[in-house]
Amino acid sequence: MTQRTGKRAVLVAANQPLEIWERPVVDPGPGEVLARLTHGGVCGTDVHFWRGEVPLPGPVVLGHEGVAVIEMLGAGVSTDYAGTPVAVGDRVYWQPVAPCQRCYACTVLGDVSMCENAFAGIFGNADGPTTASYCDYATLRAGLPFYRVPDDTPSDAVIALGCALPTMLQGLERLGGIRPGMSVVVQGCGPVGLAATLLAHLSGAAPLIVIGAPARRLAVACQFGATHTLDMDELPDAAARAARVRELTGGRGTDVVIEAAGAVPAFGEGLQLIARGGRYLIVGLWSAPGTVPVEPRMINNLNLRIIGTALSQPRHLYQALQVVQAHHRRFPLAAAVTHRYRIEDSQQALEAVARLETVKAVIAPAA
Ligand SMILES: [Zn+2]
Ligand SMILES: [Zn+2]
Repeated sequence: MTQRTGKRAVLVAANQPLEIWERPVVDPGPGEVLARLTHGGVCGTDVHFWRGEVPLPGPVVLGHEGVAVIEMLGAGVSTDYAGTPVAVGDRVYWQPVAPCQRCYACTVLGDVSMCENAFAGIFGNADGPTTASYCDYATLRAGLPFYRVPDDTPSDAVIALGCALPTMLQGLERLGGIRPGMSVVVQGCGPVGLAATLLAHLSGAAPLIVIGAPARRLAVACQFGATHTLDMDELPDAAARAARVRELTGGRGTDVVIEAAGAVPAFGEGLQLIARGGRYLIVGLWSAPGTVPVEPRMINNLNLRIIGTALSQPRHLYQALQVVQAHHRRFPLAAAVTHRYRIEDSQQALEAVARLETVKAVIAPAA
């Protein structure tokens, strides 16, 4: 019998076109799952990886957001990581980040998003079984949390907010939540900004102001609950945007600002938008190098709290599925998937995301 093979898009070196490699599909070992990709989410961070802004060692398969159909279960696997039974043909959702449960962050801090070894299995094994998602087949290795996608929940709706929804769920947890009636600014309207908008809306934020561009993404922000949008293409001056936010908040600024822009100047701008006693959640700057002038006494004088959050934990992946299951009928989540690419066209996908043409792009291997 001929050995099956699968394609994968490989980042060999920064700023070089992705290569398509064909590799054997291997049966899953004990505790592993072999899954056939239907949706590999294209994340803005992938563009930063490609540009070398976050350097990666050696050739790596790209893609850290996946929805796939279980093809084979390895010995001993009968449930997902929440105890839900799984069978061949079920859909699963995962990120290729596995907490090691053997480091300070995992066992002492109790914050597996800070695991020192979580990335160990993703990068540097472009030849063998991969847990990445720009590929035909992924092998979810033992210890890598994955969750069954409920039958009533479309895969498009799950991947639409890819890694952004779990990231924002951890962000809101670290922020300490948003109470009904609190005013919120979300900076940015890519998937992270849209996830922030949806969750802030579900928390009862009002007004809920989204600053970003282009208009197509802001239109989706409105569908996800934004009460006001400030289009940076129409209002390019940060001082004018700050004035508008003050106008909308009785001169006070907002109780919460969520940085989901991934652009360094957003930080300085965000500080100008917070009300006294307010909180600023920094989510989007994960892969954006650079500095910005800040007047630290403002943080002091205004009793501000600035809270960082990076990545997410397995419970946030599970919660993301619950949020999508509960709300995909009321909010056009699936429609946010605007672009689909074959694995062979992964390079074009990155470039379209870099040009902000997409709301959400996915790598969709041919069935
Ligand atoms: Zn991502
Ligand atoms: Zn760890």
